[in-house]
Amino acid sequence: MGKMSKKIIRQGDLGFHTGAMHDFYYRGKELYCEKVRVLDIVRKVGTPVYIYSHNTLIEHVEKLQKAFQSVQPLICYSVKANSNLAVLKSLIAKGTGLDIVSGGELYRAKQVGCDPRKIVYAGVGKTEPEIEEALRYGILLFNVESRPELELIHQVAQRLKKRANISLRINPGVDPRTHHHIATGKLESTFGIDLDTARQIFLKRFDYPSLNICGIHVHIGSQIVKGEPFVEAFRKIVGFIDSLEREGVRIETLNLGGGLGVIYNDEVPQTADQFAKNILSLFKGKKYRLILEPGRFIVANGGILVGRVLWVKQTKVKNFAVTDTGMGDLIRPSLYDAYHEVWPLVRKDHARKLTYDIVGPICESGDFLAKERHLAELESGDYLAFMTAGAYGFVMASNYNSRTRPAEVLVRADRFAVVRKREDFHSLVAGESVPAFVG
Ligand SMILES: *Cc1c(COP(=O)(O)O)cnc(C)c1O
Repeated sequence: MGKMSKKIIRQGDLGFHTGAMHDFYYRGKELYCEKVRVLDIVRKVGTPVYIYSHNTLIEHVEKLQKAFQSVQPLICYSVKANSNLAVLKSLIAKGTGLDIVSGGELYRAKQVGCDPRKIVYAGVGKTEPEIEEALRYGILLFNVESRPELELIHQVAQRLKKRANISLRINPGVDPRTHHHIATGKLESTFGIDLDTARQIFLKRFDYPSLNICGIHVHIGSQIVKGEPFVEAFRKIVGFIDSLEREGVRIETLNLGGGLGVIYNDEVPQTADQFAKNILSLFKGKKYRLILEPGRFIVANGGILVGRVLWVKQTKVKNFAVTDTGMGDLIRPSLYDAYHEVWPLVRKDHARKLTYDIVGPICESGDFLAKERHLAELESGDYLAFMTAGAYGFVMASNYNSRTRPAEVLVRADRFAVVRKREDFHSLVAGESVPAFVG
């Protein structure tokens, strides 16, 4: 490393916020992830490929652990943001639990040996087999979203002669001021139980001998950059718990959900420290244990998606760079109008800049990754990195157009490993068959 004294360019030098993705940076003209040259990964593994930085994941957990040190919350990483087994293992090795939303995520949690007493299970549509499996494994808490779900968990627990810990997901009726597809805390949203219904359930808790209804859960949405929606929601919840306690209900856990925003472009989200500072005073003197469920905050800036420019197509009005990756691999731009920075793997500092729409190969006009970006002139064979793609990236990838899903790679210091191999055509049709009555 000593010889490589070329200027190191970090995100901040390019006019973005420093610190957001500091494990991805330019050394000279080339993009690195930790100590690995991204080109070396791409040459070995091919494109499209997701690349994750182990260090970023760990640092984000540490930031939360440090900010909330005084209350020692249980941090349950939200598996749905990025469920790769290597990512999960990295996080639980650092002491986190897991927040799951399906039987499939429970299976992943078991695969990496997550302590069941650190698993919380949310989701509006849990099925009976899923509930049974979670009860058998002995998870910490079910975050319950409706009365019929509560009844079903009770029945299953009775049948298995087990007692399930329950926290009710409360819908506090606040607007998190984020994209409407990822806002969940408003009253018209599908998620959670209103305060009156929740109160009734708590007061009738002894009608459910196989349930220990002892917790409150609140998750108001995702990519929330401001502090106020959290404070507004949590203040309401604390008041609600106070009133329950006056009626003799003891609350053991308060799960604050996830939702912390990250930097994709020019957002200025609150830091873990600011978040803690904003909210911890609300819980002074309270006996319940806090749970946090961060997803995006942990992984978003820990990952990139790399694709290759197939060719540049110039029309009378626009330049399109057609790449080998698109909405099938990273759907956030198409789905949420999300913004991802585009960095070339090799910078061309003196090339002229042109404006490009960066599009994928899928037969949909919505197949784009970035619009109207000023980039040094692109040519066939150039590699591009789509930044901040670690959360809600691969997990939302599909096989639409019968395209195989990308490989995933984890980098740790100067090492890297393929943590999910690229799908092949065999896996594409695995499970399909043609019955004798056709053809
Ligand atoms: C999605 C989800 C999270 C994580 O949200 P992020 O915005 O990724 O932090 C946490 N809790 C619940 C219940 C969720 O559905």
